[in-house]
Amino acid sequence: MSESQTDVVTPIPHVSCIGLDADDTLWENERFYMDMEHAFVDLMSGFCPEEDITAHLARTEERNMPLLGYGSKAMTLSMIETATTLCPDLPARAIQTILAIGRQLMESPVQMLPGVTQTVAQLQKKYRIRILTKGDLGEQTRKFILSPLDQSIPYHVLQDKEADTYARFFEREHIDPTHFVMVGNSPRSDILAPLQLGCWAIHIPHTMTWAHEDLPLPPHPRMRRCQTFEDILKFL
Ligand SMILES: [Mg+2]
Repeated sequence: MSESQTDVVTPIPHVSCIGLDADDTLWENERFYMDMEHAFVDLMSGFCPEEDITAHLARTEERNMPLLGYGSKAMTLSMIETATTLCPDLPARAIQTILAIGRQLMESPVQMLPGVTQTVAQLQKKYRIRILTKGDLGEQTRKFILSPLDQSIPYHVLQDKEADTYARFFEREHIDPTHFVMVGNSPRSDILAPLQLGCWAIHIPHTMTWAHEDLPLPPHPRMRRCQTFEDILKFL
């Protein structure tokens, strides 16, 4: 079987810089969004029980993404839009409940994933580390500040994680993509985009990955897969 047909397990050569995704790679995120979505669906089921509220919300969110970006504020606006579209006479108290659900998400605790803090500290001894996330600047920065990670690690909140955004980042930071490894849970943002630029990538799947980010990942000679964050050490 050729290398392209099966997963490669050998260490990654000549690594100089490691990029770490944040949400659902370093700490929990998607589970808080799922909780919020369940609370929203529960609320709206009382007003329009015959509608597929989840599907409607997903479409609204996708449509709003180019304008509103990612994060809980964007999600809150999409929930209000969905609610008032499905139920034009929605009472103000229901809107207030939606705002409270959104606020709860914005204030969700920072729950580190197992082994992350120790493993990042270990990686720092040997490599340049960059945390690369996307979404709302204030929201993402709050999570980093509340985390136990070394606050001197450069933390970049990008507008998105498309290939051209990574390319501009590498140029700005004087990083050679062929010596760069991106680590993350999202096939679209953390693996496929960096692979396009000649980077290496390590995929750590999370049990909950946002449907928008989830794509099939066929084997690739510059991609490795792990089950836990600590496992990335075997490739570095
Ligand atoms: Mg992620």
